[in-house]
Amino acid sequence: MSTGVQDAVARGIARHGRLRTGMLGLLVGVQSELGQISGETLDAIARALGLPRAQVEATASFYHLLHVDNHGAYEILFSDSIVDQMQGQRDLMQYLCERLWIQPGKASEDGLVYVDITSDIGMGDQGPAALVNGYTLPSLDRNRLDLIASLVREGKPLEAWPRMLFVVADNVRRAGPLLAKAFEPGSAVRRALELGSDGLLAELDLSNLRGRGGAYYKTATKLRSCREARGAAHYVVCNADEGEPGTFKDRALLQSHADLVLDGITVLAFVIGARRGFIYLRGEYLYLHASLEAALDRRRATGLLGTAILGRSGFDFDIEIRLGAGAYICGEETALIESLEGKPGKPRNRPPYPDTRGYLGAPTVVNNVETCACVARIAVEGGAWFASIGTSHSSGSKLLSVSGDCKRPGVYEHAFGVTVRQVLEDCGAVHPQAVQVGGPSGTCVSWKEFERRIAIEDLPTAGAFMVFSRERDMFEVARNFTHFFARESCGFCTPCRVGTTLLRNTMDKLAAGKGSAYDLRQMSALMDIMLRASHCGLGHTAANPVVQTMEEFPESYERRLAHLDFEPAFDLDAALDTARLITGRDDDWAHVLSEES
Ligand code: SF4
Repeated sequence: MSTGVQDAVARGIARHGRLRTGMLGLLVGVQSELGQISGETLDAIARALGLPRAQVEATASFYHLLHVDNHGAYEILFSDSIVDQMQGQRDLMQYLCERLWIQPGKASEDGLVYVDITSDIGMGDQGPAALVNGYTLPSLDRNRLDLIASLVREGKPLEAWPRMLFVVADNVRRAGPLLAKAFEPGSAVRRALELGSDGLLAELDLSNLRGRGGAYYKTATKLRSCREARGAAHYVVCNADEGEPGTFKDRALLQSHADLVLDGITVLAFVIGARRGFIYLRGEYLYLHASLEAALDRRRATGLLGTAILGRSGFDFDIEIRLGAGAYICGEETALIESLEGKPGKPRNRPPYPDTRGYLGAPTVVNNVETCACVARIAVEGGAWFASIGTSHSSGSKLLSVSGDCKRPGVYEHAFGVTVRQVLEDCGAVHPQAVQVGGPSGTCVSWKEFERRIAIEDLPTAGAFMVFSRERDMFEVARNFTHFFARESCGFCTPCRVGTTLLRNTMDKLAAGKGSAYDLRQMSALMDIMLRASHCGLGHTAANPVVQTMEEFPESYERRLAHLDFEPAFDLDAALDTARLITGRDDDWAHVLSEES
């Protein structure tokens, strides 16, 4: 074994330990040192952790940001969301590839650089964007790419690249009850100690807070169930795996309101009696890692984390940041827990739910970043205050990540109940024909329904709000989403694994002008199977964009239909050209004859 691999694995073990739970961090760290996870590295990690190599390889091959082949000294991955594409991402990527004399998806021959696409990286408000060795490059244009190409050719280390290339704005355009008022670090924890865990739980109950990740389960109910569940330990997890395309509000919270979130996590730990918590930070937000670690250190230094928090004997709690490595499905809470345990992030069977059997089989509450921030505000301002905002079913406010065809993309905080039309006016939407609320798995709202309201009882959303003008082709929007789901299906169950691929292929076939009414019928049947038979929410919702755009914008499908009957996407006769050449045959029997001939 080479000493380079040995040393890198030894350093990784020193940092992440020898338990399987540290394996994802170990893999990420070793890759960032060595540029790849080779077979030799997999063997070394398996030996060091005392695991079969197959288990290490299963994890390493599951995550998009990990790779076994060499991607060179600079790996540049362009975000491929529909919004990035609308801002010219494809042309820019091609431009950079030409400047670097490479092809997308292939490392340069000298092993210097690799350029490709990846799923949405959470920069819909400042795209087109890319990652270089995991760090975010927002607001790309040709001038920036010229500079990046010369930095790559010079072989300049990332630390020496101009800082302005990496500046991410938080873009909070409208602050409301959650964000407008300054927050004093520790104020929620202090108030929690005054109220006691029962008092605090009563406030959360009164607030009617529901999880902001999209499922909208009542937070107090989940906490009560977790607190009452028996286990050697209890855990709190903050789900910062914000992977739904078009969503970036958690990024803004973690960047500019970290203490609000960290107070919320600490308060949750107080309620359920947890001594250990995690922030599962999506790998695409690597740029936030250092500032969050610094915030945790500040809190340890001021008695807001560690033993006897704020002097309360027995209240011991600390938070660890665990980095993801590129897998949309890890936003699903049981997949996230699998990932925390060092495994491929595949959703578990439910029940049991994590609140009774989560991380390492122990009671665990998993809450979205925004939910944690709401918990902190409720602790300080009270449950009645929170319940007085919004609608009778949906209390509080919602952070919306607004992107697409509008003059002022960014994060907008509105009380629940705001109309789609109001948000469109706020952001300066340009001739909007539709809004995708909640990302690809959410709802496509056409111009006829702009009076609908952002609320659990009407349009529930985790936060994405993508605006599409009249000039946009909604078929292409749906096609982009089918590519996203096919890439992100975890492969665990057949209806989703095969269904997402067939959907993507059929949409590509329609786009190529080879589709027929038969294909539309086939897609409808397929979508029905996926909805009924898939294991988790990804499979249940993956067909939503096609279903909804077919309903709302049928003309964008119909004009692509070549025939009313079946039209094959594959030309079998043309595929036999090579065989005919090799055998020297060109007679009728060497051709697939059409019905007319
Ligand atoms: Fe994985 Fe899709 Fe099945 Fe969910 S529905 S478990 S993402 S294959």
